[in-house]
Amino acid sequence: MNTQPIIEPDTKGDELPEELKEWLKEAQPAQLFRINLKKLSPLVQLPVQTLLSAFLRLTAEGKFNLSWEYHCTHCNAVPDFKHHFGELKSEGYCALCDLGFRNTLDRNIEVTFTANATFASVPSEIVSAYREEMMQAVKERRYAMPDEFLSGLECLTNETFRELFGDEVLSAQESLAVETVTFLFTDIKGSTQMYSELGDAQSYEIVREHFKILFSAVENHGGNVVKTIGDAVMASFLRPVDALKAAAEAHARFAGRSWDKAGTLSIKMGLHMGSAIVVNLNDSVDYFGNTVNLAARVQASVDDHAVRFTRRVLDDPGANGWLREHRARLRHRQMTFKGITGSVDVYTYVPS
Ligand SMILES: [Zn+2]
Repeated sequence: MNTQPIIEPDTKGDELPEELKEWLKEAQPAQLFRINLKKLSPLVQLPVQTLLSAFLRLTAEGKFNLSWEYHCTHCNAVPDFKHHFGELKSEGYCALCDLGFRNTLDRNIEVTFTANATFASVPSEIVSAYREEMMQAVKERRYAMPDEFLSGLECLTNETFRELFGDEVLSAQESLAVETVTFLFTDIKGSTQMYSELGDAQSYEIVREHFKILFSAVENHGGNVVKTIGDAVMASFLRPVDALKAAAEAHARFAGRSWDKAGTLSIKMGLHMGSAIVVNLNDSVDYFGNTVNLAARVQASVDDHAVRFTRRVLDDPGANGWLREHRARLRHRQMTFKGITGSVDVYTYVPS
C-alpha cells in the first residue's frame, strides 16, 4: 500500500478565470494596451476585484506590466507613469502644461495593464498612435479622464496586491494624498480587567481569537487591516457602507460567541471617512491625518458593544441606504473631542 501522502500544487485562487482566459485568447494587440479593468469587467462579466487579482498574478509572472499613470490635474493627459508603487511621488509634472500637480491616489492616479512582449507584443504603432491622439486632444482642450477607471487606491488595497507586491514601499520622505477613505477602529471593552483577572497567557489567547473574527469580517467586506495597536484594530475601506457591513458582521459574531473564562466580549467600534495621506511605516502602508485622528477619537468615545460613526458616514448615500434597509435605530449626540475643533455629530448603532 502506498503510504505517501498525495501532494498536489495548491493552485486555489491562482487559476485564471475561464472568461478571462477566453478573452485573452481572442484579444487583438490594441486591446492588450492600457487595459482599463473597469471597462473590461462588464465585457467578460467578472467583478473588478477578481479581474484585478488575475492581472496582478499575470504581472507577477511577467506576462503583463502594471502602470500607475499620473493624470495631469490641469489637462488630464498622462505625462508620466511608474511600474512600481514604490516609485510614486506626491508631486507630478506635466511638460504639456509646464505645471506641477499634486497626486491623489483615488483621483488622478489610474492603474492600467499592458501585455508584456513575453505574452503578446503590442506594436509600437499602437503606442505612438495613442500618444499622438492624446497630444492632439490636449491641444484642443478635450482630453478627458476616463469616466470609469481603476484608481491607485483600489489597486493598493487589493488583497492580491498586498500579497504579491506588499514589499513595494514608498520612500521614507514620500506621502500620497487620498481623497476619500473610511476608517474603522475597534477595541475590546474592559481588556485591562481581563488581563488582570485571567492573566496574560489566557487573555492573549482570547485576544488572538478576537483578531481572527475582526480580520475576517474586514476581509469579507473588501477592507484592509492597517494595523493592530495593542488589542485595538485599525482597518481601511474604500466605501463606508463596506465598513458598516464589516462592523455589523463582527458585532453579530461577538454577540454570538462566548469564551469560557471571559464570557462575551464587548467591542467598541468607531467609523469616520474623509481625506488622508498614505505613508509607509515599518514597511507597510499606514494612514495619517485628521480623518484618522477623529475616527480613533470616535471609537474611544464608545462605551459598550456598539458602532459609532460620524455625520459624514451617515450622509454617504451607500451607507445611508444600507442603514435604512436594515431599519437601523441610531442614537444621535453632539460631542467634542480633544484636539478636534468644534462639536461633532455622532450616531450610535447597535446592530440587531
Ligand atoms: Zn497637463
